[in-house]
Amino acid sequence: MANNYGFSTNAIRAGYNSAEHFHSVTPPIYQTASFDLEDIDRTRRLWTGAEAGGIYSRVGTPTGGILEARIAELDGGKAAVALSSGMAAITYTLFLLGQGGGNIVAGSSLYGAALLDVLEFLPKYGIETRFPEDRNDPASYEKLIDENTKAIYLESISNPNIELYDIDAIAAIAHKYGVPVVVDNTVATPYLYKPFEHGADITVYSATKELNGHGNVIAGLVVEKGDFPYPKERFPQLYEKSWKMRDLQNNPRSGAEFIPGAPVIALLKIFFTEFFGGALGSFESYLVLQGLQTLSVRLDKKLQTVRKVVEFLESRPEVEFVNYPYAKGSKYKDLADRDFKKGPGALLSFGFKGTREQEGKFIKALNNFSYHVNIGDVRSLITNPPENTHTELELKVLEKAGIPQNLLRVSIGLEDAEDLIADLDQAFKKAFA
Ligand SMILES: *Cc1c(COP(=O)(O)O)cnc(C)c1O
Repeated sequence: MANNYGFSTNAIRAGYNSAEHFHSVTPPIYQTASFDLEDIDRTRRLWTGAEAGGIYSRVGTPTGGILEARIAELDGGKAAVALSSGMAAITYTLFLLGQGGGNIVAGSSLYGAALLDVLEFLPKYGIETRFPEDRNDPASYEKLIDENTKAIYLESISNPNIELYDIDAIAAIAHKYGVPVVVDNTVATPYLYKPFEHGADITVYSATKELNGHGNVIAGLVVEKGDFPYPKERFPQLYEKSWKMRDLQNNPRSGAEFIPGAPVIALLKIFFTEFFGGALGSFESYLVLQGLQTLSVRLDKKLQTVRKVVEFLESRPEVEFVNYPYAKGSKYKDLADRDFKKGPGALLSFGFKGTREQEGKFIKALNNFSYHVNIGDVRSLITNPPENTHTELELKVLEKAGIPQNLLRVSIGLEDAEDLIADLDQAFKKAFA
């Protein structure tokens, strides 16, 4: 699949051949529940995967198929599946890898819903989570791996703490034991960080965020690199043959045979979208494809702005600390220099040095930062994670995740940097008047 085009070219063109879609220049929206099958031979080819095409939109759409091919190309992966949300991508992937029970080792600084998912929801289905004593120390992960470990799960840039991890080192340890590494690459996107070049085996995305970039869709993606030798004893589900995946000659096949190299994507497509539903709709796929086209220019601009905003915040007496790998004193600067050559994203957070009431006034006084829970929008956004995106988490969990009560998270948009800084300035003045 891999071609030699640059990132921006692939973000616009990969996975799409207009001749297959009535020469429509823009990938079309297939707003239909099901597709004509033509004749019984073609039906058979469609169901066995011998021919690509629409069957029934619960299990995927042609527009979603374009998005899957495009993200696989951008990530440098073998295959992908488009799902109805980032949380579907995360939960489906961990459910599948953890089938039959076991444990996952997860970094404890995670998106709020993902953290509660691994902390309280997945354990109800026999998938326990272990958190390393020091999530920044690769050796801490090794201590927790045993014969029932089904995955290491991390965010490449953690939300809302903006932590970075030495995924190369963590993956080297995981692979010694035959354990795959799953990376949530939502905040970084493949433009800034390619997890597969750092040892990851599966990436998951909330395409709701920077990939789409316009705050107008909920979408998720899972991508599989395609060369991880899943040990049979640890992952029998990937080698189990099923009549549902039979070939044209009626030979039952396993996920590993259905999409060689990408058994996880095969089973997510064949069983999870079939039985849980949750394939991404055609219209949502179209919106993500549309947003993806401008990902690199959007991030190039945001990376300039975020540095200016970080510098401004660092100069303010109302700010206790700034979380960003290039903020003064950050322990993530070296990793950012090594792994994030273009820059470590457009998300930052900071400690508000004031009362809760002053914090409320500050947020209320902002005009060019919307106050809501999304990130990766064209609009700049601000939120208070302990009472918002991470409100489901108890205080002790927040503490462990390194999320203090006075944390404010800022997602930089595409407005003029001067306007954003002037806006923060006047809001600080109002809050502390
Ligand atoms: C938002 C987010 C998710 C969840 O994605 P949804 O599309 O809202 O389901 C997962 N991981 C990260 C890092 C996120 O920011």
